[in-house]
Amino acid sequence: MISEHVDVLVIGAGPSGAVAASILHQKGIKVKVVEREHFPRFVIGESLIPRCMDHFDEAGFIEAVEAKGFEKKFGARFLRGEDVCWFDFSQKFSAGWDWTWQLPRAEFDKTLTDVLQQRGVDIAFGTTVENVVFDGTDSLTTVHDEQGNRKAIHARYLIDASGYGRVLPRLLDLDSPSSFAPMAATFVHVNDVRRPEGIESTRITFDVLEQRVWFWVIPFSDGRTSLGLVCPKEHLETIRQSDNRATFQHIIQQSDHYRRRFEGLDFLFEPKQIVSYAKAVKKLYGDGFALTGNSAEFLDPVFSSGVCFATESGALAAKLAARQLAGETVDWEHEYEEHMLWGVNVFRSYIRDWYSGDLQKFFFHKEVNEDVRRKVCSVLAGYVWDKENPFVKKHDRAVKAVTHLLP
Ligand code: FAD
Repeated sequence: MISEHVDVLVIGAGPSGAVAASILHQKGIKVKVVEREHFPRFVIGESLIPRCMDHFDEAGFIEAVEAKGFEKKFGARFLRGEDVCWFDFSQKFSAGWDWTWQLPRAEFDKTLTDVLQQRGVDIAFGTTVENVVFDGTDSLTTVHDEQGNRKAIHARYLIDASGYGRVLPRLLDLDSPSSFAPMAATFVHVNDVRRPEGIESTRITFDVLEQRVWFWVIPFSDGRTSLGLVCPKEHLETIRQSDNRATFQHIIQQSDHYRRRFEGLDFLFEPKQIVSYAKAVKKLYGDGFALTGNSAEFLDPVFSSGVCFATESGALAAKLAARQLAGETVDWEHEYEEHMLWGVNVFRSYIRDWYSGDLQKFFFHKEVNEDVRRKVCSVLAGYVWDKENPFVKKHDRAVKAVTHLLP
């Protein structure tokens, strides 16, 4: 079997792997990425949040992504019947980016990997990881290409950014049940030919159909729009029609706000479904490896935190691995796991409070305290490590404390 040696092997070329690989390459570290698919490939996760921009900036991706003309996202709108709640990221409490993008991930992820390849990063597409064996912090990863040719890759450090592939969680028995009840999502793209003029045309919106059921509308700059429904797993069963297309047409009928805009439009692909999408692990790192992005943890799409965690963890794992390879002692428990879990747990509180109805009560209340709103806006922008924000620091009880006072 052919073999090769690298400093760091990254599994998966989604945003987590791409940010990690870029930062390592900038530091002069020999990095290789192995990716099962060929890009562009479809993946869900199209609404970004501003905190991601810090990571794209650090990885040197902003200019190339900007050049693609993706739709800029300046906030997020939540609807519930006649009630409207708009968060404008420029009003947020924490310092930091006040805009980001809403974009088709196939094109976005390819933009990032194109940049990496232009800079000389070795990405093996169509290459699947089969097995990994550790010897201390060194690892030997067996991969195969689409012709069945196998190869052994020796690495001094391994970053598992394989998303739902969850390579190391499976191989090392690191999977752990999510703390959330099983949810489901179904989604599709349409040519948004009845898009209205003005701000309504491009506003990203979360339309609450029931307390635990919501519909997303994410317009892209090329005239396509992403539509999706998120609901408890059993709810999807109750609305299932003769096939996935009929189910989705039925879902569109449930949104008073969007029914006329989207009913009857052709779907650009068969609506996809993901059931029980929340994932968790027992440990985010081990000797010689770190889990990043969805390979580590995924909570829920409602606040678009997935890519932000993917890039936060990818960037941090890369920087810590670089220090370790340079001979420094890295406290992975404190510097990696505790940091990442803090952010995960802040979002976990807000997602819990969303589905319990408490956060919806706050969002849709007529007289919202502007100071509180700015602090919650920071959380929605992904600035969940800013402990100056009491709505971050006391995430577990902050929302309840506020909604408790509302009539
Ligand atoms: P991915 O982008 O999934 O990349 C992982 C890569 O690893 C893939 O390209 C895969 O081919 C490759 N791979 C897998 N196995 C192997 C293997 N064995 N060998 C080699 N390569 C392998 N997030 C948001 O930020 N905003 C949203 O609006 C949003 N909406 C969502 C809606 C739903 C319904 C769901 C379920 C998730 C949503 N997310 C959203 C989350 C988002 O999809 C993920 O958090 C994000 O894509 C994770 O990025 P990643 O780089 O970790 O993984």
